[in-house]
Amino acid sequence: MEVGICIAGGVDELNRVDLDLLKQVGIQSLFIGCYENEMRWQAGQVATFVRDAAGAGFEICMLPWGYGKVTDPDPAIPSLYVDTHRDQLQTDSRGRRCAKACPNNPQFLEWFASEMRTAAWMLEARGFLWDEPSFYHSRTTWACRCQYCQRLFYAAENVHMPREMNEQVRAFRRFSIVMFVLAATAAVQSVDPRLYSLVMPRPTLDTAMDNSGTGDWGQLLESSAVDGLALYVPWQERGVRPDQAIAELHNLGARKQKNTTKPCHLWLPASPRPQDRVLANLITARDTGVPRVVLTDYSTLFRAPASQGFISRLHDTIARTSE
Ligand SMILES: [Zn+2]
Repeated sequence: MEVGICIAGGVDELNRVDLDLLKQVGIQSLFIGCYENEMRWQAGQVATFVRDAAGAGFEICMLPWGYGKVTDPDPAIPSLYVDTHRDQLQTDSRGRRCAKACPNNPQFLEWFASEMRTAAWMLEARGFLWDEPSFYHSRTTWACRCQYCQRLFYAAENVHMPREMNEQVRAFRRFSIVMFVLAATAAVQSVDPRLYSLVMPRPTLDTAMDNSGTGDWGQLLESSAVDGLALYVPWQERGVRPDQAIAELHNLGARKQKNTTKPCHLWLPASPRPQDRVLANLITARDTGVPRVVLTDYSTLFRAPASQGFISRLHDTIARTSE
């Protein structure tokens, strides 16, 4: 099994990352958050870090965060584009704009594709991970009912888009997310066709409920734009045993493949705290047959007060899982 780590926190965090230490511990891949607002002014610093890390032998995968917030699990990450293009944001079922661009808006898509081409060109990465591309959803409202979504829905279904969420709307949202991933992948692969493209669906242990648009992993895996899935293991959030959650997600990922054998790797929350059970979870993942685990993230694992005493045990466990 291969072990990677997520580096969030932007340029400040990149400046603190100890690549030699990561190498010693046995980390092989870096999943690096690349923020819209930072890439406007500090893209050179991100590019330098990525070049150094790739030169040191790490596999680099970029996670574009911000960028209209379509692919955005964390609402706190700012997006200048969202602030300055209100007319391109998703419209909810009550007619209000949400703080997320619409993946069906042609102007947004054009801008997003152009930004991704620039990122692919500047950063010596091996691939990109589209982190939870989604439509807005709350308990009482959902998006998107903008003019473009309404038009596309009518063209596909020959009926007007309803105000209540139904199965047709859910299918339309899933299809829209697949098309968005196709556009994103086409953009980076126009720079380098070897760049791989992964999707992280909204974390769940049960794909039957789909409110975000990424609930059908089979549909994502079938898409030619998707080379694999990254699945976050929400065992703490859901209050379940980690070994159960790891096995469940691994098996679900395998069951959703029809004619494909695309890798589904797992993301595990990681820190030296005993309650995060990082070492035991790595062993479980290896025993379950998971091809790769990404620990999230660098800050909670390597910059925590208890990190120093933990690092040699992490090294020994990673060595065991890679045997
Ligand atoms: Zn829309």
